[in-house]
Amino acid sequence: MQVELKNSSKKLCVIGDPVLHSKSPLVQNTMIQALGLDYIYLCQPVPAGRVKEWLSCAVFAGYAGFNATMPHKRDLVALMDHLDEDAAMYGAVNTVCIRDGRCFGSNTDGRGFLQSLNSEGVETAGKTALLLGAGGAAQAVALKLCQAGRAEQVFVCNRTLEKAEKLCAAGPRGHMVPAGFQRETLCRLAEQADLLVNCTNLGMTGTAAQWEDLSFLDGLKPGACVYDVIYSPEETLLLAEARRRGLRTLNGLGMLVWQAIFALEEFTQTEIDAAAMLPLIRPVLTAYSQNT
Ligand code: NAP
Repeated sequence: MQVELKNSSKKLCVIGDPVLHSKSPLVQNTMIQALGLDYIYLCQPVPAGRVKEWLSCAVFAGYAGFNATMPHKRDLVALMDHLDEDAAMYGAVNTVCIRDGRCFGSNTDGRGFLQSLNSEGVETAGKTALLLGAGGAAQAVALKLCQAGRAEQVFVCNRTLEKAEKLCAAGPRGHMVPAGFQRETLCRLAEQADLLVNCTNLGMTGTAAQWEDLSFLDGLKPGACVYDVIYSPEETLLLAEARRRGLRTLNGLGMLVWQAIFALEEFTQTEIDAAAMLPLIRPVLTAYSQNT
C-alpha cells in the first residue's frame, strides 16, 4: 500500500499509548489511496496525561483530524468545542475533526459495532444480548444495542460487578441488567441470549488473560450469534469454540473497518462507498497479520 505524499496533503493520525500496534494507518491509507484523496494517515504516540499538549500541536500543525485510542478517549471530552451525541453519551471521544481551529469530537465505537452486525444480517431488534465486560467498548456496544439496535434486553456481565451496575444505570430503564462473571451466572443467562458479545480483553493477542471456562456457550440457542470485539487474533478461543458448537461467529474486524469508514467520512466530509472499501481492506489486514 502506497500513498502519494504531496506538499498539499492533509494530515491525519491515530494517537494512543501504546499505539504502534494500531491497524488504523493501514486501513485508512488503503482507503485514501483507493479513493485518490489528498490525505496521509500517520501513527502518533502520545503519552498518557498529555493529550491537551497534543491537541495544541495538532491544531498548530494543521492536522485535519485524528483518532484516539486508550488512554485518551475520556480526557478529550473536556477539550472539544463540540461533541456528537454518542461521544456525549459515552463520555469518550475517539474521532476529532479540526476545522478552522475548532475541535469536533465524536465516537464511532457503537455505530461501528451495530453497522458491522447489520451488514452481516444479524437482527438485534426485540432480541436478548449477553454482553461480557463493562469497559469502554462494552459501554458503547450496550447502549447502541438498546437504542439504535432496539434490543429488548442486554445482560451486562462483568468481573467487577459495580462497573456493570454503573454502566446499566446509565442506560434506558429496564433494558440493561447487570450481573457477575461467575460460571453459573453466565450459563444461566446464555440460555436466554440470541447474541453474545465479548467486550473483555480475554483472548486478545498480547494479553496474558485467557478464558478458563467456556461451558456457557453450551447454553446458547442454536441460532445464536457469538461476536468477539477482538480482532487480533482473527479467531479467538471463544470464537473457535463457538464455531465448533455450530454457532454463528463474527470477530471485531467489521467493527474496526466500519469505524474507519465513518471516521474518514467525518475527516473528509465526503460519503464513502463502504461496499467498495470492504473487499480492499480485508485482504490488506489479513496479509499484514500473516507477515507480523
Ligand atoms: P477496558 O475499558 O479496559 O475494559 C476491559 C474489560 O475486560 C473490563 O470489563 C474488565 O473487567 C474485563 N477484563 C479484563 N481482564 C479480565 C479477566 N481476566 N477476566 C474477566 N474480565 C476481564 O477495555 P476496552 O476499551 O473496553 O476494550 C476491550 C476489548 O475490546 C479490547 O480487546 C479491545 O481491543 C477491544 N476493542 C475492539 C474494538 C474494535 O473496533 N473491534 C473497539 C474497541 C475495543 P473489570 O472491569 O473487572 O476489570
